[in-house]
This record gives sequence, C-alpha cells and structure tokens, in this order.
Amino acid sequence: MKDPFVLGTILAHPDDETFGVGGTLIKYADEGVRVHSLCLTQGDQGWMGDPERPIVTRERLGAMRAAELAESGRRMGLASTTCLTYPDGALAGVSGDEVVRDIVRWLRRLRPDVVITWGPDGGYGHPDHVAAGERALKAIELAGIQRHEPALGAHWHVRRCYRFVAAADFVDGIREINKQFADYMETLAVKPERWTRDRLGAAIDIREVVERKIDAMKAHATQEPDYREWIASREKIPWLFSEEVFIREFPDAGGPPLETDLFGALRGMSPGSLAKRA
Ligand SMILES: [Zn+2]
Repeated sequence: MKDPFVLGTILAHPDDETFGVGGTLIKYADEGVRVHSLCLTQGDQGWMGDPERPIVTRERLGAMRAAELAESGRRMGLASTTCLTYPDGALAGVSGDEVVRDIVRWLRRLRPDVVITWGPDGGYGHPDHVAAGERALKAIELAGIQRHEPALGAHWHVRRCYRFVAAADFVDGIREINKQFADYMETLAVKPERWTRDRLGAAIDIREVVERKIDAMKAHATQEPDYREWIASREKIPWLFSEEVFIREFPDAGGPPLETDLFGALRGMSPGSLAKRA
C-alpha cells in the first residue's frame, strides 16, 4: 500500500488551525492524508469567558486551550496536534533560534510533504502570526540541511509550502460587518495586504465540509465570542465560508497559477519515492 501524504501546519494559536484553515485540513484528512498541526503558543492571553463569570482562570487557560485544540483536531480527523508553550502575544520577542529548533525537530519527526504556515502579514497583521510564519520558513530551510543539528533528527525536505492569507474581499467583508475588528486591525503595526485573486497561489473549496469546520470551531469553547462572531458572519456574507486561500512560498514563489489542490503537483509521484530522494 502506498504511504499516505503528510500535511503539516505551523501556526501561532490553538484556534488558528480551525478558524483559519480547518476546511482544508478536514478535506485532506478525509482523503487519507496524515495531517499534523504544530501550534507555537497555548493562546493563554485569550478570552477566559464573561469577565463577570470567567469559565477558567488565566493560569489554567493555556492548558485548557491546548485541550480544546486536541478536541478540535479530533473532530477534523487530524493525526496529531502539538501545542508548544511560547508566550502568547509575545512570540516575536522570543529568541528565534529556540523556536526554530523546536520546529526543525517537529518537521524531522513528522516529515510533511506539504506545509501550511501564516502569510507575511499574519492574516490580518497579528504579530504572533507574522512571527510564526517567519520562524516556520527558517525551520523548513534548516530541516532540509543534512549537517544542520543532526541531533534534531534526520534531515527532511518539505516539498511544497503554502502561506495562509485573508483574501481582500474577505477582509472587506469583515470590515463591513465587524467595525470593532476593523478598528483593531488599524492598531496593528503590520497592515493586511490586498490579496486579490490574481495574487493567490491556491484556493481550496471548503463548501462541502463547512458544517464540520463549524463543529470543530465550537470545540474552542473558551473562544466562544470569536466563533459566534464568525458563524454569525456566515449568515450575512455566505461566501466568507466558501474557500480558504493561500500564496505559494515554494516552489514557484508568489501567486499564479492558481491551484485548487495543495497536493496536485505531487500526485503523480508516490510519497515513498519522494522520501527516498530526500
Ligand atoms: Zn491566531
């Protein structure tokens, strides 16, 4: 039997996988791809529930969100979820080497053919997202160099890397229905880029799995206001939930041609032969 393809995500917070690229992950997991998610923080600065009646203390929030990620991963059919404990909200300030080493170790252990990470603008400018994307790219490069820290595992070449971005019309839609979020975006140092269709590298149609994406979002119980907001926006702007979009980091960096399958270019080759060539 052919070895299954492996897809890895390297993101910042325990709900990035689900809210961001959950539809894509469900689709590939359904198909038999082994999907592994690496989350760099436990999101411990996030929402704890109604300030009057918090559902968890600040000290317990990180562990609870890691558990929510595990449950959400189970609902999406992921093969594993790993949640590191770098500081939420301050990832950019952590020594790059330390984070990169952890990612290299993870990549060499799980050997993904395709990796998804945050885009250069972190979706909407979130500094942790921007930092996660940068560290992921550095780690992917180092993981493939044989002489680089052999103690972290045998070197591994990721075949394709995609960066999750928020489509320009998606951001416009959010601005329209959520003024508060639009104002928050304005406070961030990195502004979202205008990812118009002609600049995209891949668009994954998630309409068939959207109900399951929403079900997985609901596993993030501590983030209820967030997912409520998202689900409500679906009623107002239905196409918000129709696809997840990416730019391609490599090979053929940038945008077009627009792919509709992150594994399309690899399907002719068996993953086993890819591994042997690595
Ligand atoms: Zn996030």
